[in-house]
Amino acid sequence: MSRTIFVTTALPYANGSFHIGHIMEYIQADIWVRSMRMAGHTVHFVGADDTHGAPIMLKAESEGITPQQLVARIAAERPQYLQGFHIEFDHWHSTDSPENVELSQSIYRKLREAGLIETREIEQFYDPVKGMFLADRYIKGECPKCHAKDQYGDSCEACGAVYAPTDLIDPYSTLTQARPILKTSEHFFFKLSDPRCVQFLQDWTTGSNAQGHKHLQAEVLAKTREWLGHGEGDDQVNLGDWDISRDAPYFGIEIPDAPGKYFYVWLDAPVGYLASLKAYCAKLGIDFDTLLTPGNATEQVHFIGKDIVYFHALFWPAMLKFAGRKTPDQLNVHGFITVSGEKMSKSRGTGISPLRYLQLGMNAEWMRYYIAAKLNARVEDIDFNPDDFVARVNSDLVGKYINIASRAANFISKYFDGQLAYPGDAAALSAHWSQAAEAVRGDLETREYGRAIREIMAHADQINQAFDAAQPWLIAKGLADADPAQRAALQHICSTALAGFKALTVMLTPILPVLAQRVAQELFGLSRSFVWADAGELPAHIAPFKHLMQRVEPTMLDALFELPAEAAAVAAAPAQSSAPAADVAGGLVPGGEPIAASITIDDFMKVDMRVARIIDCARVEGSTKLLQLTLDLGEGRHRNIFSGIQSAYQPEQLKGRLTVVVANLAPRKMKFGISEGMVLSASHFDPKAQPGIYVLGPESGAQPGMRIR
Ligand SMILES: [Zn+2]
Repeated sequence: MSRTIFVTTALPYANGSFHIGHIMEYIQADIWVRSMRMAGHTVHFVGADDTHGAPIMLKAESEGITPQQLVARIAAERPQYLQGFHIEFDHWHSTDSPENVELSQSIYRKLREAGLIETREIEQFYDPVKGMFLADRYIKGECPKCHAKDQYGDSCEACGAVYAPTDLIDPYSTLTQARPILKTSEHFFFKLSDPRCVQFLQDWTTGSNAQGHKHLQAEVLAKTREWLGHGEGDDQVNLGDWDISRDAPYFGIEIPDAPGKYFYVWLDAPVGYLASLKAYCAKLGIDFDTLLTPGNATEQVHFIGKDIVYFHALFWPAMLKFAGRKTPDQLNVHGFITVSGEKMSKSRGTGISPLRYLQLGMNAEWMRYYIAAKLNARVEDIDFNPDDFVARVNSDLVGKYINIASRAANFISKYFDGQLAYPGDAAALSAHWSQAAEAVRGDLETREYGRAIREIMAHADQINQAFDAAQPWLIAKGLADADPAQRAALQHICSTALAGFKALTVMLTPILPVLAQRVAQELFGLSRSFVWADAGELPAHIAPFKHLMQRVEPTMLDALFELPAEAAAVAAAPAQSSAPAADVAGGLVPGGEPIAASITIDDFMKVDMRVARIIDCARVEGSTKLLQLTLDLGEGRHRNIFSGIQSAYQPEQLKGRLTVVVANLAPRKMKFGISEGMVLSASHFDPKAQPGIYVLGPESGAQPGMRIR
């Protein structure tokens, strides 16, 4: 029976580019969606940028742009990643949209009508200079326990103590350095502790959808029981009411009938799922309200990471339920991706940049295959290991699977004009592959992707072994004088292998959509992509085999990783030549040039780099390269600096932004005037190979004059 399924991934926060964790989640969801579509189901797969909240407001402010401009800039980056990894959302939207304002406010009104909203006065730290209430992350001070300085408002990184921001000794605002004051404000709460909510959540978290799949994985259910108890009466319920309001200034959606109050970003973010679907429905002419009416057979499925279970397993279903809407049918929670055993962290330099992966010309389907091979239905972290990546792609994907077609197809083209034959066993062969594909389809539906890949590779092994045992190359050698039986045997061996190759390609279609489409069209002559039912259809004819997939070069993996600074300096030290090609180890050179020779910390400290605000920026008459910048380094005067960045920026783009300046560079007299320092920017050694100049900027909150160290 054909199902209609509404699928989302977690909405990425629009203050930065996608990292490999996002791409992993999207690949997981995209494989699932493709597999369901191949089975004939209707899937609406939507995403959106999560745009609201203080971090985006402050980052935009520090760049001298509006939050909307910041969000638009980030949104413009998204397609290159999504298209690059063959992730096909039907629609990509924004939580800063009319649909989301309307839906968030209407859900809130329903919750209020249901008696589940109440207001309370709360006391909170307030930055008197900035004029805003401070979230914990914007408050630092001395740890009350171990007296380490500069610790955040919620916990100490030095001793691990957890506390309230008001416990800090000498607290200060990270935005202005001002000492925060305690101030009261009226906040709005969603009464999750209401017995109706608790009862509903105890039912929903333990419930199943129409297909018999549990709403939650076992590990996720165990987690929710820490908050909800087991629903057996005497359990402790640790469910607090949820503070859903924030005070102006805030970039967000206004709370109805409450001037100066905004929804906390986590209230309107999941509503963004519905907003995106609504916008997509409008485009298609589907009735959104009918689709998501309680009782409608549409399934609502969310793919998320384990860090946001609290929001998706408690707040979100309760919000929907008491707003009279359909509740989620399935929450698919995955773990994090680690790199060679370390948690992904940009600062530690163990991350993989998905954009760099694509820019290096690495095949997106290698990554899709590798991630699929590692994923299962449990909430486990998966590890990206470069050696394992090379082995799985080269030995399994290319060496086992692709190899079948490249070996068998040539005999068929050379001796049989592309015609395949299955004397005597067509029905059995067809049934075998139908069953094998059905098992893999089931694995993909239950998100046991690793198991699916293991089954596919076991089939590939069997096909290769049968092919080797029959020694078709020996038969072909004597074919000129062979009897018709020998000829038929050769055709049969190769046909059987190619029927297997076709079935395996059907099974791999959700994972390798581009390769599978080529196989369907170029080798088997279909005018469409594969569906599950194709696995048992034995092919009757093939076109000549064309090369399908390259092996991974291990040097690509070297280039993909950021080497830790020390190791990089050692590795690159002998490569003093000016040719920016490859280092002695044969790896690629980062940014097109070797890392410079080692320096001491004292050498580094001779360079005085400061945060500066770009007060003004103008073109320089008579120069095609330079922009003239007027900068405030907090010195009580402005500096004039010429910078060769005209090719990359319009002057208006830079005005108001913060950047980094080498402040103690000796002033230099140039044709157009005196330059008093240097603005830092990033670029590739060879701008023809990789164009672009990127002016550096600090995180929001930095102030002109602060030193870089
Ligand atoms: Zn401490």
